[in-house]
Amino acid sequence: MKSEIRKKMTVKRRYLGEIVRLEADRAMLETFEAAFSCYNSFLVYSSFSTEARTDLLIERLLSEGKRVYLPRVEGERLAPVLYGELKKGAFGINEPVGEEYKGEIDVTVVPLLAVNERGYRIGYGKGYYDRFLKGRKTLKVGYGYDFQIEDFTEDEWDEPLDLYLSERGIYTFGK
Ligand code: ADP
Ligand code: MG
Repeated sequence: MKSEIRKKMTVKRRYLGEIVRLEADRAMLETFEAAFSCYNSFLVYSSFSTEARTDLLIERLLSEGKRVYLPRVEGERLAPVLYGELKKGAFGINEPVGEEYKGEIDVTVVPLLAVNERGYRIGYGKGYYDRFLKGRKTLKVGYGYDFQIEDFTEDEWDEPLDLYLSERGIYTFGK
């Protein structure tokens, strides 16, 4: 089930039109800024391929003087590192080279292939964010397009998001 949705969403996202994508990424940037400018520290995934773009978001947050961390893959885990010099990491994704930050982070921007109506997500199938988010005190914000909302049954190890931000606005999940 999850693997079928992974395939379907990968294809759907790949064939999203260029203009639609540009508009959606821009709308999401504005929504994000309006909703979260009261927070000070952010962990933001470094987008690659057809994922919702975060480079402009990172730039915007930095220009507002926010503390921005990027995740770095270290074996089975994600280590937050303050934005700085970047280097291509494990999956060809840009990762920061500095030391791991061990403190709290206000908002975590989470990538996904699909999200369900209870706020559970499907990622690439390695469980990195399930492990990272487990027990962590941070606002968990999924970041993606509206068509990525999909019905599926989550697994017991899946960690739910607090919010989902798409080009249509912000969805909240009741707890
Ligand atoms: P994704 O969330 O990336 O879509 P899955 O939810 O399918 O991937 O999880 C992938 C793997 O990660 C699973 O085999 C699961 O056992 C493992 N996993 C997830 N969370 C944890 C955890 N807290 N501790 C250990 N393994 C975990
Ligand atoms: Mg999972």
